[in-house]
Amino acid sequence: MKILVLNAGSSSQKSSFYDLTGDALPIDPPEPLWSAQIDWNDREDSATLKVKTAHGEVFEESYRSTSKSADTLKALQTLWSGNTQVIQNPNQIDIVGHRVVHGGTDYVQSTWVNAEVKASIERLAEFAPIHNPANLAGIESIEQILGADTPQVAVFDTAFHAHLPPAAYVYSGAYEWLAQGIRRYGFHGISHQYCAQRAAQILDRDLQSLKLITCHLGNGCSLAAIRDGLSIDTTMGFTPLDGLMMGSRSGSIDPGILIHLLRHSDCTVDRLDHLLNYNSGLLGISGISNDLRQITAAIAKNNDRAQLAFDLFVHSLRAHIGSMLASLGGLDVLVFTAGIGENSAAIRAATCEAFGFLGLSLDLAQNNSEPIDRDIADANSHVRVLVIHTQEDWSIAQECYRMASKSS
Ligand code: ADP
Repeated sequence: MKILVLNAGSSSQKSSFYDLTGDALPIDPPEPLWSAQIDWNDREDSATLKVKTAHGEVFEESYRSTSKSADTLKALQTLWSGNTQVIQNPNQIDIVGHRVVHGGTDYVQSTWVNAEVKASIERLAEFAPIHNPANLAGIESIEQILGADTPQVAVFDTAFHAHLPPAAYVYSGAYEWLAQGIRRYGFHGISHQYCAQRAAQILDRDLQSLKLITCHLGNGCSLAAIRDGLSIDTTMGFTPLDGLMMGSRSGSIDPGILIHLLRHSDCTVDRLDHLLNYNSGLLGISGISNDLRQITAAIAKNNDRAQLAFDLFVHSLRAHIGSMLASLGGLDVLVFTAGIGENSAAIRAATCEAFGFLGLSLDLAQNNSEPIDRDIADANSHVRVLVIHTQEDWSIAQECYRMASKSS
């Protein structure tokens, strides 16, 4: 079964192409036949398409950007024909899977795309103004190129958190908020779910028997508390701004600060939005970058603000892990994933140090190696600590495979 996956983010559009043969899904994530990524530069006036094949060949092309949906269409056309030779025959594609960021309360599992689903994705763009339109653009580009009958599957980032209990998803504001859709939804669900399943697989344990906290630490950061294979608490909320301190997002802060700024400065709603989403977090505090690598380099040169940004990030992570711990009532496995979680031994070590009282202890040599899909806790630790390479695209491809198998 040949599956194309489109995964649209705020500043990139990723895609992967899998060829699954045999009667069952492979246990270890396979390499896609090729993967491609469109990156938009900061001013969004140009876009670069990079394609990498499983053999390591790389192809790159830059465009003058008109709109994200036009760029997506153009990039897909390049993959189809052009000189990339990536897809020789579009008819070879059996299913296209899409990551859709917001499924609201309507979509608690993956679904086949039809007119009603597209209308819901458009309606829910009110809650995810950057992502849902990009996801819809991907769906419509496929329809345009391959025809409206091409089977497409929407896999929702919010779906894994659909089982949060009311005490975890209701905000302690006005009761009427619930009816207006103002509640915790949680995000990064595809990644959290994948990591929980992969952790159980690596440890050779039944997922249902494990209490896990998964730490997705990329540009956006969130935690999930997972029991019986379900997310029962998470840090992102109504929007992906809630919870942990992130690369350029503030995470949770006293809402009184927002009222104060709106009342006592020339801050408008739009400026506040920009400040909290794009100019806060590691970038806002360090004044250097949203990228932890640059913060770490500045710390090595004794930059105080970089050190403060690092310390705040760790403090926020520890505090929220503590909160997830209380929701779970115990912990068997702590998982680190995404850019920071997979690559920063320093963040992992500083975070874990606070949980020594649980009997959690790291094998420092393992932590400092390149421990992808490995257990980095020492043999005597009461909590296993795993570093897992998140594979959202593979997870979406698996969903497509399952949906197709069910309907055949
Ligand atoms: P996104 O949320 O955009 O998918 P990623 O999961 O790719 O983000 O994570 C990107 C972040 O990961 C970077 O901004 C950087 O902070 C961090 N990162 C990537 N590589 C390293 C590294 N070697 N050491 C420390 N941090 C890293």
